[in-house]
Amino acid sequence: MTRVFNFSAGPATLPESVLRTAAAEMLDWHGSGMSVMEMSHRGKEFIAIHAEAESLLRELLAIPANYKVVFLQGGAIGQNAIIPMNLLGGHSSADYIHTGEWSKKSIKEAQKYCKVNVAASAEANNFTSVPKRDTWKLNPDAAYVHICSNETIGGVEYHWTPDTGAVPLVADMSSNILSRPVDVSKYGLIYCGAQKNIGPAGLTIVIVREDLLGRALPITPSAFDYKQQAEADSMLNTPPTYAIYIAGLVFKHLKEQGGLSAIERHNRAKAAVLYDYLDQSSFYRNPVVPEDRSLMNVPFKLKDESLDDAFLKGAQARGMLQLKGHRSVGGMRASIYNAMPIEGVQALVAYMKEFEAAHG
Ligand SMILES: *Cc1c(COP(=O)(O)O)cnc(C)c1O
Repeated sequence: MTRVFNFSAGPATLPESVLRTAAAEMLDWHGSGMSVMEMSHRGKEFIAIHAEAESLLRELLAIPANYKVVFLQGGAIGQNAIIPMNLLGGHSSADYIHTGEWSKKSIKEAQKYCKVNVAASAEANNFTSVPKRDTWKLNPDAAYVHICSNETIGGVEYHWTPDTGAVPLVADMSSNILSRPVDVSKYGLIYCGAQKNIGPAGLTIVIVREDLLGRALPITPSAFDYKQQAEADSMLNTPPTYAIYIAGLVFKHLKEQGGLSAIERHNRAKAAVLYDYLDQSSFYRNPVVPEDRSLMNVPFKLKDESLDDAFLKGAQARGMLQLKGHRSVGGMRASIYNAMPIEGVQALVAYMKEFEAAHG
C-alpha cells in the first residue's frame, strides 16, 4: 500500500490513524456486530457515538454552554440559504464582507432571502487581503454580519476576530475550523462543511448562540430549522451517521495531539516552510499580503504558466497530488490542512526547488 501526499482542497486528506481505526471497526463496532453505517441513529450505540463527538468538539473549541451544536446535511453552500432563513427574524437586511469566491457565493445566495449590504470588499485589490475593520460600513440594523474566515480558493484568512458590536457575527469556517483555537463567544454562529478539516463530505456543523434560535422564517424547512434540530439533538431527521462517527475519531485524534494550541503551532511551522520558500523565489509567487495569508490553503503561480503541466506531472510522479489551482484562478494550490504532515510540505518544497533549478 502506498499513501500519497494529497494536497486536495476538499474532500481532503485525513489522519491515517483515523482511517486505520475506521477500517478495524468497519465490520463490527465495539462488539456490536454492526458497522456504524448500519446502526439505527436512535439506537444506544449511535447515540453514544454522537454524544461523544459533540462533547469532544465542545472541549476542543471550548464552546460555551449557551451555544448549541447541530449536525446537519446540506453542506456549507446549503447554509448560505439556511442562515438568512433562520437569523433574519424581523430584520430586512444582513451585512456581508466580500473577500473572494466563497463570500461571493454566500452573498449571491443570501440575496434570494434578504437585502444584502456588502459592508466591505477586497475586490479592488483582487482579493489579496482582508479589508481592515475600520473600512467596514456596517448597518446597525443588520440581522448579522457574515464573514468567510478562510477563503479556500484565494488563500486569504482572518487572523483576527472582527468586533461587530451587538450585531451577531456569522462565520463560514469550512476550511479553517479546528486549525487553531477560536474564541467562540465572539460569534453568533459558526458553520462549516466537514470535508476540509474534519471528515467525510455530507456532515455540516453549526455552532449557534441560543438567543439566536427561534427566529426562523415560516418557510424554513424543519430539517434546517436550528431550533427544531437543536431540540431534537440533530435527530429531527436522520443525521449523516457515518460522517459523524469519523468526525468523532478526528476530534479524538486532535485532542491526543495536544488540542488546538498544539495543532496551531504545527500548522504555523508547516505553512512557514512553504511561504518562506515562496518569498525568496522569483520563480514562484503567492499574491496575498503576508498578514492575511492562509495557513490552510496556499495558492501560488509559476513565473511561466506554460510550465504548469510539467510541474503537475513531476509532482504526481513523486506522489504529490491535487496541486492544480482552482479553475477560477489557475496556477497551483497546496491545501495543507491539519492532517497534512510537515513531511508532505517539505517534500513539496524540495520538489519546487528541483523544478526551479531545472527550469528557472
Ligand atoms: C468548500 C467550501 C464550501 C463548500 O461547501 P459545501 O460543503 O460544498 O456546500 C463553502 N465555504 C468554504 C469556505 C469552503 O471552503
